Amino acid sequence: MKVTVLGSGTSQGVPIVGCDCPACTSNDPKDKRLRVSVFIETDIKVDNKPLRILIDTSPDFRQQMLLNNVTDIDAVLYTHYHIDHIMGLDDIRQINQLHRKHVELYANSETAGRIRQTFSYIFDENTYKGGGIPLVNLHEIELKPFDVLGQNVIPIEYKHGPTTVYGFRIGDFAYLTDCNFIPESEFPKLEGLKVLIIDALRYRKHETHFSVDEAIAVSHRINAGKTYFTHMTHDIVHAEASSKLPANIEFAYDGLKFDV
Ligand SMILES: [Zn+2]
Ligand SMILES: [Zn+2]
Ligand SMILES: [Zn+2]
Repeated sequence: MKVTVLGSGTSQGVPIVGCDCPACTSNDPKDKRLRVSVFIETDIKVDNKPLRILIDTSPDFRQQMLLNNVTDIDAVLYTHYHIDHIMGLDDIRQINQLHRKHVELYANSETAGRIRQTFSYIFDENTYKGGGIPLVNLHEIELKPFDVLGQNVIPIEYKHGPTTVYGFRIGDFAYLTDCNFIPESEFPKLEGLKVLIIDALRYRKHETHFSVDEAIAVSHRINAGKTYFTHMTHDIVHAEASSKLPANIEFAYDGLKFDV
């Protein structure tokens, strides 16, 4: 299975418009963060090609496809309905046109409801369809393993302030963005991971995201072979901040690729 980090930045992205802090003015490409998303090519084959799963459609989705040469997607898993995780959905149209197919979307009932509301032109049959609409099948999922075109996916439910978010485990990889509390009941689903990607917003405490120290503590408990942090603000200057992390934990960056 191959994973590509399409975006590793918080909701505003990095650099932030009008900011002249060290991260926002850094020349290091690892300090340029689009909004969070990952692209996964699994070991399951569809028409002799790897099954392609995207997690979330960020506002930067079109640019992320261009930068990473992503030209086909079979399914999208949604973590939650915040705008930095859903707003790129309209750009699925190009996948529809290139491959003459619908894309399968998976979300819990709250997230699915908000997607139907935000993108009413896709789901409301009475809406004028000029210019084309994304061709998608939206599947509501519950807190139990589900099938994505032959690939088993395990949802992990946790808190992001007042919002309930689904993370996802596929094989020995798990992705837990936008998180500040994982209930005890979910830890058994995270045993034996080879790679974990988890939220670590910034150094200072935050009401709805893990800080770096909180993310380190929970990552030690989960004890994946390798852990990457994501959803970082401009508080994190990649090179300097990386030197302070424990062994086996790194900050992710846009364009990072790894095999699991
Ligand atoms: Zn977010
Ligand atoms: Zn800044
Ligand atoms: Zn969020």
